[in-house]
Amino acid sequence: MKTLADALTVRTKIYQAFEAAEASEDPQERAQWLTFALVGGGPTGVELTGQIREIAGHTLDREFRAVDPGQARVLVFEGSDGVLGAFGPVLSRRVEAPPLATALARATGAEQDRAGRIRVEPDLTIAGHPEVRVVGDLMSLDKLPGLAEVAMQSGAYAGRRIRHSIEGRTRTPRPFRYLDLGSAAYISRGKAVVKMGRFHASGLIGWLIWLFIHIVFLTGFRSRIGALISWAVVFAPGSRRERAFTPTVPDSAAAQAVPVRTAG
Ligand SMILES: Cc1cc2nc3c(=O)[nH]c(=O)nc-3n(C[C@H](O)[C@H](O)[C@H](O)COP(=O)(O)OP(=O)(O)OC[C@H]3O[C@@H](n4cnc5c(N)ncnc54)[C@H](O)[C@@H]3O)c2cc1C
Repeated sequence: MKTLADALTVRTKIYQAFEAAEASEDPQERAQWLTFALVGGGPTGVELTGQIREIAGHTLDREFRAVDPGQARVLVFEGSDGVLGAFGPVLSRRVEAPPLATALARATGAEQDRAGRIRVEPDLTIAGHPEVRVVGDLMSLDKLPGLAEVAMQSGAYAGRRIRHSIEGRTRTPRPFRYLDLGSAAYISRGKAVVKMGRFHASGLIGWLIWLFIHIVFLTGFRSRIGALISWAVVFAPGSRRERAFTPTVPDSAAAQAVPVRTAG
């Protein structure tokens, strides 16, 4: 899930499953429609799990006659030992490079990693192209994950490097070093997990820290106030009532919901 269209497609699929459960008269089929399977227990999978539980338990709590949305089950399938990669040193979000990466690789002859990201030099330039700098999700360096913090730090570094070259500084630049400030993953309203060095927090405290971190890193006073107001509206008890299916949602394979069949 990367784009707004992807998110709308997933949301449509989730709501359609509840509608299909309500329309079905077969209890087994209803249970299948109310079972959601998520492959991948990374941050996005865990966040989506929390959101489906929130939709089932809050948003749709009194919306149906035949089914109780609160009975919905969310199954997370994870290949490693635990979800959230045991919340290890760096929370990695799997990144798939956009088409821009391929176009850039073709134009410059840059190497791409398995995810399609552009391999960069320690100063974030492309080998043989000191005039081109690649940052954020598009760059591949030292197995850094696709996180906003990596994008912000690499962007700031590239900006400094460009300023220095305009100022005519000739000293060999220091390589880019990522400073891991910690990881935070939102689970659902009032629940998040945060890890900063040895400090760990979860539940409500984790959520409050998660909110604070996101506000601090927003640019400008206006966007901070805007975010606070939107959150107040969204998080106020019972106020999250949106369920619009928009016609712009692409008719992709992902939009065609199918019930989950589980043994037993
Ligand atoms: C569902 C989801 C949840 C996430 N949650 C978190 C989180 O909780 N914490 C965290 O740290 N990270 C999170 N991430 C990762 C984070 O969003 C990215 O690492 C970060 O946004 C990368 O920044 P970026 O500037 O490299 O790329 P982007 O933010 O993707 O920005 C790239 C921009 O370039 C534009 N663009 C693309 N191609 C072209 C083109 N040809 N011409 C012009 N413009 C173009 C795109 O439209 C986009 O606006 C999440 C990602 C996803 C998908």
